[in-house]
Amino acid sequence: MSSVMDRVGALGKLVLKGGAVARGKESESKAATAKQPWEGGQLTPWTFALVAPNASAYTGGAGTNTWFVVNPHQTDEKKVGVVVDPGPYNHEHTKAILRHIDDHNLDIKAILNTHCHSDHTGGLSNLQEILMVPALSRLNLNLPDKGEIVIDGWRSGIEVVDIPGHSSDSVGFVIPEGHAMIVGDVLFAKTSTLINWPDGTLEDYMHTLDVLDEAIDRYRLRWFLMGHGEPSDQPHGLVEKARDHRLRRLQMVEDALQSGITETEELVDAIYRDITPKLRLFAQLNIEAQLQYLRYLGRL
Ligand SMILES: [Zn+2]
Repeated sequence: MSSVMDRVGALGKLVLKGGAVARGKESESKAATAKQPWEGGQLTPWTFALVAPNASAYTGGAGTNTWFVVNPHQTDEKKVGVVVDPGPYNHEHTKAILRHIDDHNLDIKAILNTHCHSDHTGGLSNLQEILMVPALSRLNLNLPDKGEIVIDGWRSGIEVVDIPGHSSDSVGFVIPEGHAMIVGDVLFAKTSTLINWPDGTLEDYMHTLDVLDEAIDRYRLRWFLMGHGEPSDQPHGLVEKARDHRLRRLQMVEDALQSGITETEELVDAIYRDITPKLRLFAQLNIEAQLQYLRYLGRL
């Protein structure tokens, strides 16, 4: 049988390939410690990250994480799994994804997408054409808003959770047996995310933080796996930190407004004092999102 690498460039209709899973005993879930700096790799028995070579100021300094979610309790030679976020349109990264699939003898059933920004979807159609599997994405209008994506042979599938805010289309993927959730760009371990206003709103984002807190308890999550950079094994703490950060920023905007500053540019200068020119547009979008949220709250 030809390897995935042999089939690079092959086109064809979508087919689901078979696979079986053993219902073996739970193995000890020894999660690896995040590396410094983050270079990806096997993070939990269920999840492996491949980092795309697209790190820039616009990606928070870290390339896109392409996640492989593979059920470790399988006895078949080929291990059934999915790919989450194929990353940017980058030939080398797509080749690295295919190499990983070959090297680990994976039977990829589907490609999932956390949100439709090009650093996560740019490589999607190429990878789909090569793997000939369904690509579930809001870009393709075929990703359920919530509920379970059933994976052939898995005891429990992947749960979809609606988590807008960074963008209106952001979703999280819960791996219940792995006690992990892939959160896309909604949270980062070391930095705050962009509220990509007007598509993303702070109103949505603040609600999403509540949804994430609930999901952590419901699924007993131990890990948040990000779209960029290292994961976090302190999910509640990270949500709390994000909430505090947003409320503090909001207070700064209100204080600036009360001092007589009203123009967005001046608000950026007052609040994001050390912002680099490259990130100024992002700061403006965050300010616009905060102003809109204050209007929503009736405080402006
Ligand atoms: Zn991203």
